[in-house]
Amino acid sequence: MIRSLLSTCGALLLIAAQAHGQPRSAGPIVELRNAQWFDGRSFATGPRWMRDGRFIARPGQRADSVVDLRGRWMVPPYADAHTHGPDGARGMEEIRDMFLRLGVFYVQTLANSRTGAREIRARVNVPSSIDVQFANAAVTSTGGHPQQLYELLALYYRTVHETDAEKFAAFRSRLRDNDTYYRLDSLPQLPRILAEIARDSMPIVKVILVGSEEFDTKFRDSTFAGAYGLRPALLAPLVAGVQTLGKRVWAHVDTPHDFALAMRAGVDALAHVPGYGAAFETDAVARAMLLPDSLLRLARARPIPMTATLVLGALEAGTDTAKLRRFREVSVRNARALRAAGFTLLAGSDTYSSALHVRTDPQVTADELRLTPLERLRLLAVDTPRAIYPARRIAALRSGYEASALGLMCNPLRQVQCLTRIDQRLKQGSWLSVPADSTDR
Ligand SMILES: [Zn+2]
Repeated sequence: MIRSLLSTCGALLLIAAQAHGQPRSAGPIVELRNAQWFDGRSFATGPRWMRDGRFIARPGQRADSVVDLRGRWMVPPYADAHTHGPDGARGMEEIRDMFLRLGVFYVQTLANSRTGAREIRARVNVPSSIDVQFANAAVTSTGGHPQQLYELLALYYRTVHETDAEKFAAFRSRLRDNDTYYRLDSLPQLPRILAEIARDSMPIVKVILVGSEEFDTKFRDSTFAGAYGLRPALLAPLVAGVQTLGKRVWAHVDTPHDFALAMRAGVDALAHVPGYGAAFETDAVARAMLLPDSLLRLARARPIPMTATLVLGALEAGTDTAKLRRFREVSVRNARALRAAGFTLLAGSDTYSSALHVRTDPQVTADELRLTPLERLRLLAVDTPRAIYPARRIAALRSGYEASALGLMCNPLRQVQCLTRIDQRLKQGSWLSVPADSTDR
């Protein structure tokens, strides 16, 4: 109610100002000199100008101030389309600084606490901080992922190495119900869940599929707590309902069966490449996760964006050659096949707060899929930001776009290591300084 009143008033003021022929108040013009600017393909020289947080065309008057960029290579800021932090006030400053340090200005959390997002509302999505798009609560079934994980976290403040008793307690616990997850077990419950989702302001919703081919044997069995997701028959009505609200659906998928369900239900994006966990499995289980040609046809018919989260398999594998083989022969191969089918691969670390994950995911994706330096840069600075905020004028250093950029010490199209040699951070017209790296792991 308050929001709609405010926006109505704003619109009225704007109309009044236009009626009187008054120009909107404009701030000082800043000229940015002595840099090379990424134009989507290569670097161009020459000055650029900004005013009121946006790049502007060459002004008809002298700039009010001039900034010497000392020969830096300017690129649009990076993004991470699959995180789980920030997720509330706890650790908020450290997580914000970690992302800013790595040049990641745009963060999409795919499941987080609704309370947590409200807690930090005033501290994100402002020029001095990261921009966060929260998915809020993920939709799953009773006892499914991520209920188990978030209840373990709520009860014991950890998510691994739980005893059987703790596992069972988490299965029965409802501390985070309707906060980090919604439980949807039958069709009559769908209108209530959709009403909750409609009340939230976020434009995306995460739905969970985990080994959906075995759903009936796992559901409500506490031994399988967290090892299943939504009831398969509920996916299509849920997706249709969410899309009717004007929101996009991100699906967590594990297996080819999950993938087929998600594609047929018309989800908008995938949170993992199917088979992303192959490194953790036996050879036989891993092999069954390879996408067959019939499913690649589904992909070609309607390619969508995907955070492959290859970082998870790569870090699990480490130097273990068997795990590495499964990772490459299944996870990477599926990612490559989907990319060839037209999917847009995005950076996605799937982490709460690990700089290692945020840094490693785009590197692993680029190395394993043999991306060119240009494709690497576009993955971080163009494709991922645009997938998170399709309606925003970001990810290009052009007149009319938000004046946000990273200044690199060397040319990332020559040497890919230059992508991480960040010397300047400009966000919506403001220069940011980030505390030096002390706790990054
Ligand atoms: Zn995740």
